[in-house]
Amino acid sequence: MTNKEINLISDTITRPTPEMLNFMMKAKVGDDVFNSDPTVLELQTKIAKLFGMEAALFFPSGTMANQTAIKLHTQPAEQLICDKWSHVYNYESGGASFHSGVSCKLIDGHRGMFKAEQLSEVIHDPKQYYLPLSSLVVVENTTNKGGGACWDYHELEKIQQVCRANGLSYHLDGARLFNALVAKNEKPEQYGKLFDSISICLSKGLGAPIGSLLLSSEKNIYNAIRVRKLFGGGMRQVGYLAAAGIYALDHHVERLQEDHDRAKLLGKALLASDWVEKVEPIETNIIIFKLHKNRDEQSFMKVMEKEHIKLISMGEGKLRIVTHLDFTDQMLSKVIEVIEKI
Ligand SMILES: *Cc1c(COP(=O)(O)O)cnc(C)c1O
Repeated sequence: MTNKEINLISDTITRPTPEMLNFMMKAKVGDDVFNSDPTVLELQTKIAKLFGMEAALFFPSGTMANQTAIKLHTQPAEQLICDKWSHVYNYESGGASFHSGVSCKLIDGHRGMFKAEQLSEVIHDPKQYYLPLSSLVVVENTTNKGGGACWDYHELEKIQQVCRANGLSYHLDGARLFNALVAKNEKPEQYGKLFDSISICLSKGLGAPIGSLLLSSEKNIYNAIRVRKLFGGGMRQVGYLAAAGIYALDHHVERLQEDHDRAKLLGKALLASDWVEKVEPIETNIIIFKLHKNRDEQSFMKVMEKEHIKLISMGEGKLRIVTHLDFTDQMLSKVIEVIEKI
């Protein structure tokens, strides 16, 4: 990234801060394939304790953590149930079918979220042996394609009850769970007690360069170590990266509120522009907006590009901006100025 560039395509583009890098360099490391990297073990214990869950496992990516969860909770030919916009269905290269041999039943939700009643309607009766057996429900909080929307916690509880009543496992894709916790002032333990497994990305809003975690029961994590190795995700002196995660959990959680505040100010500026028809409600750090029909997406992107501001198109006439750790107030003023002048 050049000095001038303001990159708002994603919260994954952040670079470690000097303090984080310094902390990483000092990490004690060992061979994590032999389960003997002290910093990895510390991070895993720390996050499990935070959520009140039995155990956790460090992964190179959120995709691998999610795909491992799917593998743990399903058998080939079964079906997982998720929203039509979910990451596990849309953005993991078809991994659910490739790694676990399962199909996805898609719920037509709102902004990536659905109701417990909608779930009840699509669960297959196990007696109907000719239908794929429903075995897993996956929800996402915040929702990525849904524009960083946060679930209503009560609805997540109702969905858990439906899962329990039907013998389904319940996985949370919490790539941006900390954004939801900060935005809604919720506690990690509330989530730990609701789900059979949770994945969390350290490399999004939390600002670590690499890394995700899977949280679950002792038994599931024991099995997850084998699956992770099978997927090629066993890593050696990876404590340097786990250290970034520890640093992020200690220093980069509360500050997510700043990203959310900046996102809201950007949303306001966009809404005031006569180029913009609609801005989706902004709850966290993702802004999805639509231009008026007579305004061309490409010309909007070009004007932004000329000012060294990067954003991305989501298709269907939608554009996306994501705020993050490397997006400062100074940059915010510049972007608002550009939006006002366009
Ligand atoms: C980013 C993301 C993931 C994981 O992505 P990786 O790039 O593999 O770390 C999973 N789910 C959601 C909702 C995400 O936004």
